[in-house]
Amino acid sequence: MTTRLALALAASLGLSMPAYAQDPAPAATEAARAANPFFAESPLPLHYPQFDRIKDSDFAPAFDAGMAAQLKEVDAIADNPEPATFDNTILAMEKSGQVLNRAQTVFFSLVGADTNPVREKLRSDYSGKFAAHGDAIALNGKLFARVASLYAERDSLGLDAEGVRLVERYHTDFVRGGAKLSDADKAKLKAMNSELAALGTKFSQNVLADVNASAVVIDEVKQLDGFTPEQIATAAEAAKARKLEGKYVITLLNTTGQPPESQLTDRATRQKLHEASVARGSHGGEFDNREIISKIMKLRADRAKLLGYPNHAAYVLEDETAKTPQAVNDMLGKLAPAAVANAKREAADLQAMIKSEGGDFELAPWDWAFYTEKVRTAKYNFDESQLKPYLELNNVLENGVFYAANQLYGLSFKKRTDLPLYHPDTATYDVFDADGQQLAIFIVDMYARDSKRGGAWMNSYVSQSGLTGYKPVVANHLNIPKPPAGKPTLLTWDEVTTAFHEFGHALHGMFSNVKYPYFTGTSVPRDFVEYPSQVNEMWADWPAILKNYAKHHETGAPMPQELLDKVVAASKFNQGFATTEYLGAAMLDQRWHQISADQVPDAAGVMAFEAAAQKADGTDYAPVPPRYRTPYFSHIMGGYSAGYYAYIWSEVLDANSVEWFKNNGGLTRANGDHFRKTLLSQGGSQDALQLFRNFAGHEPKIEPLLKKRGLVADTPEAGAGSK
Ligand SMILES: [Zn+2]
Repeated sequence: MTTRLALALAASLGLSMPAYAQDPAPAATEAARAANPFFAESPLPLHYPQFDRIKDSDFAPAFDAGMAAQLKEVDAIADNPEPATFDNTILAMEKSGQVLNRAQTVFFSLVGADTNPVREKLRSDYSGKFAAHGDAIALNGKLFARVASLYAERDSLGLDAEGVRLVERYHTDFVRGGAKLSDADKAKLKAMNSELAALGTKFSQNVLADVNASAVVIDEVKQLDGFTPEQIATAAEAAKARKLEGKYVITLLNTTGQPPESQLTDRATRQKLHEASVARGSHGGEFDNREIISKIMKLRADRAKLLGYPNHAAYVLEDETAKTPQAVNDMLGKLAPAAVANAKREAADLQAMIKSEGGDFELAPWDWAFYTEKVRTAKYNFDESQLKPYLELNNVLENGVFYAANQLYGLSFKKRTDLPLYHPDTATYDVFDADGQQLAIFIVDMYARDSKRGGAWMNSYVSQSGLTGYKPVVANHLNIPKPPAGKPTLLTWDEVTTAFHEFGHALHGMFSNVKYPYFTGTSVPRDFVEYPSQVNEMWADWPAILKNYAKHHETGAPMPQELLDKVVAASKFNQGFATTEYLGAAMLDQRWHQISADQVPDAAGVMAFEAAAQKADGTDYAPVPPRYRTPYFSHIMGGYSAGYYAYIWSEVLDANSVEWFKNNGGLTRANGDHFRKTLLSQGGSQDALQLFRNFAGHEPKIEPLLKKRGLVADTPEAGAGSK
């Protein structure tokens, strides 16, 4: 995982920017260069990566030569005897580092989606080197002097608004990267960044290793009562893959809650699953993350102080739309009591259900999902298992996700089978605009596997910019359990929503229409980037869309209207739980990052710190543990440090936008085109909140979010808190 600072630097300094046709000359022999696909632009359509030619042994030479080449380019810019101009400094920086960028883009994508021991070793070996490389550029005094001189006269350089903004962003990134520090402090900063990079890598490697090592082994099939025959077969296969023939293995997802808890009738099995989940990273042994956490938090606090900030959160939030820890604390603090109260009302319903079935135990975390399904069935007369036959993966994707993009934006999709794949479970589509022009290539990677990190995400292999002329190649990744061979992939409602969500990010990447690589696609503040993807979730249960994809996988019969209505009606169900577990994690993230170095506990105190933080935040409600506990909270050890609040922060804009669509006629081409024109195509080329205002025509309001989450006491949805 990259640190926040490294990410900012990478973004600002071209490390994660699209490549150019003109290669510099790295120190490698001609033969080696010719054999290594990263040394030249990919000849495939839209410069799609040559997965069939890329070998793991190609990465190190491309990293080494790519870093050397970029440093040479940067030195040439810094040492240029001509006075600084936009072209010879900023644009030259935007164009630097092509080989490195190509290699890193593919490498980090594959490490996330399909890692292996060689890739993990490379990741460890290079994390410190990449951090040092970023620092060598960010802390180049002569380069900063040129950027600073351009910044001082930015309004008289004859630049358009996007150009002026680019100069400002470069200046800000250099200052935040330590450009104004003394030489002695620069040296300290470099050492910290390098150590943080190594620790971050180790943390995420431990998370992946422990999620696999903590998979729960079950001896007898009766302990799996409640599973479908397909799930039992999957568990048997997972056991076989681990050389445990005759047993069953339930693999874990990276969240605290584990989906099988909603089905397993055997309470002891549920408990076992839950306990294995929450112990990850803190049960001793080689994958224990507590010491790493302590070190990372201390280093981040020290680094913030060095850069002139009271703590890491203050440093991070200054560059987000939130601006200050106080703003984030105010928002989360306002939501938490209402959310916990909601969760407690839901718990009362669950406890009543337990009692009505003759149970005489108190609701525990591992009971929540199980009894929630029962209450859902009682309240809405349906459960997840009735839905699933209507939610077949390809139908959801092509007739749901793609169909919505067609209705809103006029996009069409054509599967292609001629491009090389990095894994056989992936697929590629050509994406065409309404006028028939190719817009992008879209890679779909839906299935969970041991080599894939948890969660769901989008990434770009090729990013759009006018400067490069490149069109986007973007990918979506989910973690849907793969059914046994020959069986259909039937999704949960949550997985359907996630597919729409991730495609919202993909649209943000594909619609990008900016001049400079710096501003491409999803290169927006972290507390803004989730907003377009959240908006896209609204189409999952939009009646005209749902009707188009929710068809029985065997008979093709449409999902009965009655069931459709129930899905929609139940959408606010269990929101107290969802909001509480989310806020528990988001506030924990802030607690960790709003302290000074001397307040950071050592390894033995990490879990006690977490418990105390939850208590102080009022989120310490035992049946609803945080969505992630610190030792497996990858977001905050990686790119979302002090940034996990971003999801609910973005949701304010999301809820406003959903309201806008509804008030303006819903699913229409005109509405889609307006969203695309004002916002989705703009990347980071304007101030993020201005983009929202351009789209919605007003300032963001909090009420739509409170309503959506059932947190307003006087709305009918809130009432029982379980709608
Ligand atoms: Zn997202």
